[in-house]
Amino acid sequence: MENWKAKTKLVHAGAKRSQFGELSEAIFLTQGFVYDTAEDAEARFIESGPDDYIYARYANPTVRMFEERLAALEGAEDAFATASGMAAVSGTLFSMLRAGDHVVSSKALFGSCLFVIDDILRRWGIEVTLVDGTDLDAWAAAMQPNTKVCFCEAISNPTLQVIDIAGVAKIAHAGGAQLVVDNVFATPVFQRTLELGADVVVYSATKHIDGQGRCLGGIVLGTKEFIQDTFIPFNKHTGPAMSPFTAWVMLKGLETLVLRCEAQAKSAAAIVDALKGHAKLTTVIYPTDETHPQHELANRQMSAGGTVVAFEVKGGKAAAFKLLNNLEIFTISNNLGDAKSLVTHPVTTTHKNLTDEARAEAGITDGMIRLSVGIEDTDDLIADLLNALKQV
Ligand SMILES: *Cc1c(COP(=O)(O)O)cnc(C)c1O
Repeated sequence: MENWKAKTKLVHAGAKRSQFGELSEAIFLTQGFVYDTAEDAEARFIESGPDDYIYARYANPTVRMFEERLAALEGAEDAFATASGMAAVSGTLFSMLRAGDHVVSSKALFGSCLFVIDDILRRWGIEVTLVDGTDLDAWAAAMQPNTKVCFCEAISNPTLQVIDIAGVAKIAHAGGAQLVVDNVFATPVFQRTLELGADVVVYSATKHIDGQGRCLGGIVLGTKEFIQDTFIPFNKHTGPAMSPFTAWVMLKGLETLVLRCEAQAKSAAAIVDALKGHAKLTTVIYPTDETHPQHELANRQMSAGGTVVAFEVKGGKAAAFKLLNNLEIFTISNNLGDAKSLVTHPVTTTHKNLTDEARAEAGITDGMIRLSVGIEDTDDLIADLLNALKQV
């Protein structure tokens, strides 16, 4: 299996068949497990093997199939699936840190990640330094003897800044810290984040992994030692486990993950080419495009630029709203990674809670629009955007 390519792993890895020989993975919608004898129960509580289950808050066969399948794609030794992306992020940080430790984090974060790091961790006596994630000197300068974790999102939302994962990993490791990467925007398809040097990779499976807008979910991937000795001891007692039903939906999502992400990224790149230089736009942002200031880094660490495109329309909020309201295929939603193409105005939605200064510093302007490109026909998507731009 280790030699299989991504598309093959995503259909077959981790599959477990019951005695009935079902073709599709079964949903083991069970909380608990039974034992033939008291001795069997006793033995399982002393030592349980990989397929010996005790209680679904710790592990469940359907959830395990999902964990093993994504671990095979990511090249991780082990994984633990959670009820949401934020359960994955917070469960990772809470299990790694204690009062008196220090965290260095990129400041360009998803709003809930920023709240966990900049508010909850501080409340619990953990020191936090926020840095410009694209500035390796800033990461190095922020390191302290008690720094235990460096954290970043590989590609920032919505300005699509690219973080040099190998560079940050080197700084973290030199200081005795571990690098945790929220890899949602880069996707497990386009970036080998563990191979670049990250110690732990987390995903909101709500995004590309489900990919069809159904379930919330998350997953944490790393070494067997990290998952078994750090993540699970904390999280099996605090209880963020993924539901077996959700895991089954996510397994089906994984089967088509590469097909969807490759089609979405291809359309995204074509949309970038169609929008670049448009008279009503000031900028079009896409990580691997030659106009992106970090495109060399993006092309080095990613095999494609991802499924999200950002651009700025001239005329601020009024022009941006006009554009959103005139799109027919792109649907207004703050989600991303879906089969359906979605459009967001970050200033009035996802990034509403930032101060004006923080927004200005991050380059999130009133005219900025974020597209999550879906799997519809590329020509239809481009026509929809050009038509809506005409109305602006
Ligand atoms: C959506 C998202 C999360 C949170 O995931 P949920 O599944 O909504 O809890 C975390 N980080 C990034 C980058 C995201 O896009």
